[in-house]
Amino acid sequence: MAKLSRRSFFKLMTATAGATVVSQGAETKKVAAQTKRLREKNSKQTRVVVVGGGMGGLTVAESIKANDPDNKIEVIVLERNAHYFTCPMSNTLFGEIEEVKKANIPFKYDYTLAEKNHNIDVIITEVIGADVKNKSITTTAGMIDYDYVVVAPGIDYNYKKLFPHWSDEKIRRAMKETPAAMYSDSGKEKQNLLNQLHAWRDNGGRGNFVIVPPKGGKVRCKPASYERACMVSEFIKKYKLPGKVVLLDSSPKPQSKGPKFIEIFIKHHKDTILFNGMSGDEMLKRIKDAGFTMENFKKKENFSKVEDNFATCNVKDVDFDKKEITYIYADNFDDDGKEQTIGYAVANLIPYHKGNETAKLFDVKRDGWGGIVCAPAKTYSVSDSTVYTAGDIMGYHKFNPSAQTSVSVGLLTGESIAKRILTGKDEIDLTKAGITCFSMVVAHPLKAIEISKDIIVTDKGVAKAANTRLAFRDGNGLIGWFQAIVETPFKY
Ligand SMILES: Cc1cc2nc3c(=O)[nH]c(=O)nc-3n(C[C@H](O)[C@H](O)[C@H](O)COP(=O)(O)OP(=O)(O)OC[C@H]3O[C@@H](n4cnc5c(N)ncnc54)[C@H](O)[C@@H]3O)c2cc1C
Repeated sequence: MAKLSRRSFFKLMTATAGATVVSQGAETKKVAAQTKRLREKNSKQTRVVVVGGGMGGLTVAESIKANDPDNKIEVIVLERNAHYFTCPMSNTLFGEIEEVKKANIPFKYDYTLAEKNHNIDVIITEVIGADVKNKSITTTAGMIDYDYVVVAPGIDYNYKKLFPHWSDEKIRRAMKETPAAMYSDSGKEKQNLLNQLHAWRDNGGRGNFVIVPPKGGKVRCKPASYERACMVSEFIKKYKLPGKVVLLDSSPKPQSKGPKFIEIFIKHHKDTILFNGMSGDEMLKRIKDAGFTMENFKKKENFSKVEDNFATCNVKDVDFDKKEITYIYADNFDDDGKEQTIGYAVANLIPYHKGNETAKLFDVKRDGWGGIVCAPAKTYSVSDSTVYTAGDIMGYHKFNPSAQTSVSVGLLTGESIAKRILTGKDEIDLTKAGITCFSMVVAHPLKAIEISKDIIVTDKGVAKAANTRLAFRDGNGLIGWFQAIVETPFKY
């Protein structure tokens, strides 16, 4: 792996787009040499640079090479972290799921095998600038030219949208003290939240583990907050803690896989999860009050009526010193709500998501969320067909950000890039991609909820999900899915 020691050079550099590197003496020569090394380009090969070595970017990189039998394409991945931490299934760490432990899943991967097995080059460096006109990228380790670029940096958090009145300092406190744990920063955020969970247990496990799901919009893995609630509930049961998981959701039902999560909350976590103040028994009572049973409330036409009788909790502010969250509690659809405050022992505050700011560096059209707007039925930018995109940052198409979509669309994108370079044909069939997402919800016996969808392409060339299927599955299926889909780009 080409390790360009980001740390030793980082301090010496001015980190602005297209910036001149400022340093002194021997270090200047070192930096200049590294800059030169990054720029070297083999004239016999077409170069594709991939920004972000996550689920989307790494899959595209490997797929290009899988479709390049004569080695005519050079693929270089630029990734800022030496290790990638896989978000899917990481919630099972909160539930200490035995089957996951037995499967020896490390969750953290480096790029050694990806490089060895796929003839790609991964450079550990941070992208800090781009000049699409001249097809060049600035990194903390130097500059690099490209013929095609694939922009795949994932998501960022949008605390400002959730709390416009918060200072930057308060946002920093939120990130540190109530981590969202929704992205891959080598696993630091997840470890922080796990450490807080363990410290809570060690101190007696009293009080609340509060989870605040994002308030909507385009969100990476919408079911993740509810899966996490189930896994923390399993932790509480395992250690017989007196505390509870409290979900404070602006929606009256889980925002994804809603009926199935409610069934699971009622049947398996009735005393350990409070969803918007409602225990399992309270939810069941409200279902019955609405005239339904456990068997028929999940039908589409019935579920919307049940929802109207469920409460909502709209978070307004957090006091980090007092460890209190203020929210507007509304008991049902007709209730305007009243302000309430809850104390927390541990809080997992998940703000709105937005496209990773790195995409901004590439001067192409982006949507209001920060996603790169693709050309109709394509995975390259509508403003520049040499700028491809992959993963959650992909705009225009209406995919829910997920690993499965990042991988399956990534495979098609890589194949399409290789064919375009090698044969001049610019083709991709996005209906061949797939959407499947599992959530682990019960530890004994292991149980998961699976959602799967087909992809259609509209007359306007918008690829989107259709034909949703929702089912309970043996949780070992999630482990198999993880090994087959999520681990594959890093291991095989
Ligand atoms: C808790 C949780 C559970 C999930 N469960 C599921 C699931 O069950 N099923 C499912 O399908 N999906 C799941 N997901 C979603 C899935 O993890 C994401 O959709 C997927 O990782 C998106 O891939 P990506 O390539 O867009 O982004 P990432 O995987 O985040 O990769 C982006 C990469 O870009 C790098 N990067 C960013 N900026 C720069 C820069 N300036 N320079 C260099 N590198 C940069 C980052 O370090 C990162 O490695 C889950 C997510 C979470 C958080």
